[in-house]
Amino acid sequence: AIYGAERRNSLAPNTEIECEWQPFHAAVEGFMQQQWHGGPIIGGRQRRCGDARDVLAPQNRSIRAGSVHWAGREEVSEALDLVGEGFAGWNATPVQERAACLQRLADLLEENLEELVALCHLEAGKTIQDSIDEVREAVDFCRYYAIQACENLGQVQLCTGFDGAERRYRLEGRGVFACISPWNFPLAIFLGQVSAALVAGNSVIAKPAEQTSLIAWRAVQLALQAGIPANALALLPGDGATVGAPLTADSRIAGVAFTGSTETAQLINRALAHRDSGIVPLIAETGGQNAMIIDSTSLPEQVVRDVLRSAFASAGQRCSALRVLYVQEDVADRIVEMLRGAMQEQVVGDPSLHSTDVGPVIDREAQQGLLNHIEKMKRSARLVAQTPLPPDASEGTFVAPTAFEIDSIAQLEREQFGPILHLVRYKASELDKVIDAINATGYGLTLGVHSRNEETTRHIARRVRVGNTYINRDQVGAVVGVQPFGGQGLSGTGPKAGGPRYLPRFAHEVTI
Ligand code: GLU
Repeated sequence: AIYGAERRNSLAPNTEIECEWQPFHAAVEGFMQQQWHGGPIIGGRQRRCGDARDVLAPQNRSIRAGSVHWAGREEVSEALDLVGEGFAGWNATPVQERAACLQRLADLLEENLEELVALCHLEAGKTIQDSIDEVREAVDFCRYYAIQACENLGQVQLCTGFDGAERRYRLEGRGVFACISPWNFPLAIFLGQVSAALVAGNSVIAKPAEQTSLIAWRAVQLALQAGIPANALALLPGDGATVGAPLTADSRIAGVAFTGSTETAQLINRALAHRDSGIVPLIAETGGQNAMIIDSTSLPEQVVRDVLRSAFASAGQRCSALRVLYVQEDVADRIVEMLRGAMQEQVVGDPSLHSTDVGPVIDREAQQGLLNHIEKMKRSARLVAQTPLPPDASEGTFVAPTAFEIDSIAQLEREQFGPILHLVRYKASELDKVIDAINATGYGLTLGVHSRNEETTRHIARRVRVGNTYINRDQVGAVVGVQPFGGQGLSGTGPKAGGPRYLPRFAHEVTI
């Protein structure tokens, strides 16, 4: 842990921890007074094209973090030319040197922790803990892929054949990779994709989410400072229609890494399929309709703690987050009662305060979509609990953590990407029906199971088709290298970020 930060218990503020945090807070505060002005970076130089767009803090729309210029068609084609030229040189750079750049980038991220935390607060509305976790995960991705590259992209032993001929087998970059990243992990997933693609030998054009371009812009500055050549990495902030669509349609793009909605992944997949040049890979990590199943042998206190974190941490804006909680009938009343109490105690508010558990959602559009869903559910389902909002909530894009009771997961049309939980009661005899219903959603990202009966946990884990199953714990916060992360079906194409088999997906295999 970068700052030895301990997970805080919001119900019992600890003044000692507050004191220990003082210098860190002061430094973050200092950066929060700063204004950042970002834009496309091509050939190592920042472009000031078009109008600059204001970046406003989700927790208070009157706070301005700075501005970002968005790329236009011209910058897209310039970046494709330049990064296309840069590919051969970067691909020919020994893998150890490429990995060393990632290690230096990780060092720079750690050295600039306070600034990056301030940016995470201001641009993405993340809490202190989430912001630190975000930087730490970005560091982990860089270091892990650097180590993986040296171990797995270098020499590989081949069987010696019978004919005495000399043979070689190696992995090399595919060409220009487009990395299209989401706003919910604006630094970690952004750099996870970029560092994996780069260390595998590709040159990269990165298109960050519209909502969080500043932090991506700062990360690219640090990557260039770490030694990534200016013609191997370009940044194109901008909207999907102007930047994303022409990139994915361009025959010079040799692969796409995408994290975001299932619908956009399907669009990209179609765009790639319709090009008449090479068939190129799409590495997609998308949404989920994630469930947790708890039976009557589970420990209620532990269940409630893990449900709270899985459903409401990061304001539910994780693709791994819990959306549908299946509770065995015999224990349902008790769990519901405890959950109600715990939800009353959660603190929603300013993410830069230590006492805050749940910050804002990313923007007005997201807020409105979630509020519409809450209104709709109020008419068709039973409201179980709702965490109170702070008095000044209207200054930002807050959504009160809310839990409803419904009859089945099938009642939900699509993923609600925010702090909304749905609860379903089931009878012990219906467990297989529950499993079938979860599989029938077509999503397959995370699953939580709480049970002290090993036969049950094994049975469920074997039959539910998801990428990541978590037993007797929360189901968010996969750790790089420890819990490789990624889903199947509507949740993605499968490669596991932070896993040992991720890098080869960005590479060509060559046998000589
Ligand atoms: N890896 C994150 C987690 O385990 C989720 C990533 C995402 O939301 O895209 O919570």
